[in-house]
Amino acid sequence: MGLVCFCAVLINMPMLRDCATKRHKMYNYVSVPFALLCGFVSVLGASSATIRVSVRTPGQITVEAELSSPMRSWSFRNAYAGVLGIAERVEDFRAENVTVRKIAPGEFRSEGEGTRISYNIKLSEPSAAEVSHVSWLVGDRGFLMFADLIPSDIATVHAQFVLPVGWTVESTITPDANGQYVTEPEKAVFLIGRSLRKMTKSVDGMTLDSVLSGDWPFKDSDVLQAATPVMKRYLTLTGFRLPQSSVILIAPLPVAVGSVKWRAETRGSTVLLLIDPNAGFKNWRGQLGVIFTHELLHLWVPNSLKLQGDYDWFFEGFTLYTALRTALELKIINFKEFLDTLARVYDSYLSYSDNLSLLEASERRWTSAGSLVYDKGMLVAFLYDLLIRRESSGKTALADRYRDLFGGSFADGMDGNAVIISVLALSPAIKDFTRSYIENNKTLELEQMLPAFGLSLDSSAKSSQLRVKPDLDSEQKRLLRSLGYTH
Ligand SMILES: [Zn+2]
Repeated sequence: MGLVCFCAVLINMPMLRDCATKRHKMYNYVSVPFALLCGFVSVLGASSATIRVSVRTPGQITVEAELSSPMRSWSFRNAYAGVLGIAERVEDFRAENVTVRKIAPGEFRSEGEGTRISYNIKLSEPSAAEVSHVSWLVGDRGFLMFADLIPSDIATVHAQFVLPVGWTVESTITPDANGQYVTEPEKAVFLIGRSLRKMTKSVDGMTLDSVLSGDWPFKDSDVLQAATPVMKRYLTLTGFRLPQSSVILIAPLPVAVGSVKWRAETRGSTVLLLIDPNAGFKNWRGQLGVIFTHELLHLWVPNSLKLQGDYDWFFEGFTLYTALRTALELKIINFKEFLDTLARVYDSYLSYSDNLSLLEASERRWTSAGSLVYDKGMLVAFLYDLLIRRESSGKTALADRYRDLFGGSFADGMDGNAVIISVLALSPAIKDFTRSYIENNKTLELEQMLPAFGLSLDSSAKSSQLRVKPDLDSEQKRLLRSLGYTH
């Protein structure tokens, strides 16, 4: 299941001049002799490893690992979040006392069994498409995501780092008494580099850190200040206090990207945010606030839910809508911007054919164009919110379903789609709605659907206009006021 997002900036923010990002040259490959690993603690049980990650050559790491049990086959993640060929960066793979053959990118085999392995990974040339989803090391900073750096059969690592003088490492993981970071590779994200600056805050009993690298047009303290009201809001929304500490890691984008000058991923309890320092946002704190309304919700949805399956339509599409409502409620945006954003998403939705149900689109998110999960998912959340508010005369809203989801006693590993559809289905009319627009591929026609709620959508011009109708009846007025309309 992909816990990542290609969250695009949906709020209108001033755009942005192109920047000339330095692309670092590939450094000459230096082969590193196999080092004997001394003083490692042995780890009991299968599929764990004690590893040492060293930065000895710019743009490259060397990993030396002692496995808890001997292996003769090692596989590295080669595809993630639509990015292919990640494992091609693994080089010079060796196992002590046995001969290793490379049979495909990231696939290494030996006749005999080995317990001590070493390899290099070149991380100096991330592409714009992958930069927030895979490890990279450019100049004097980098992100190390163990999911693409450690063979996939290893479930637990005890890691230590050997870094250039003046570099430090930051993550949500506190090293143990031996200085080792004990973690599952799947969730582990480390920021390494020179002059990392960390701040810590307790938000209603939840620990939130920020770590910044690089120079920014905002103060370091702005990050936690922008994040705090959003964290409080999502604690109230879900009723679930995050048990572990969370961290927001911010660094400059190491590559030139398109018109959207930032990239993010929320993995486990880490929000990784890469921004172009020259993006020229008029209001950096507002921009951070907008990004956080989406990314911080991922700390809860899906990352704190123990549901299975591809329910991306909910944890991306509904997250977009809930983030937009949150931005409105926190006054980061106004009601007009709220409507304008939805109109823009509808235009995006109209620009391709809607021939999959949201369930199917979620399954194929990484193998098809993938926008349906975001666009239709967000618009279905909007319609659901309108329907449920009208049906209950304003007594309940989509936001209340998050408490139902976190407070419900759903067993670990239940099917996310079944659970969420059952949580949403408060009435026969709502069941019909979710069946049509989530389980089946009924096309959205907002022009026809919205007038009943006091809204008009005019898509005759180049970009659609979503407006409040002039002649509202009292029920429509109450509904739109509950959404934040103030006239
Ligand atoms: Zn997302």
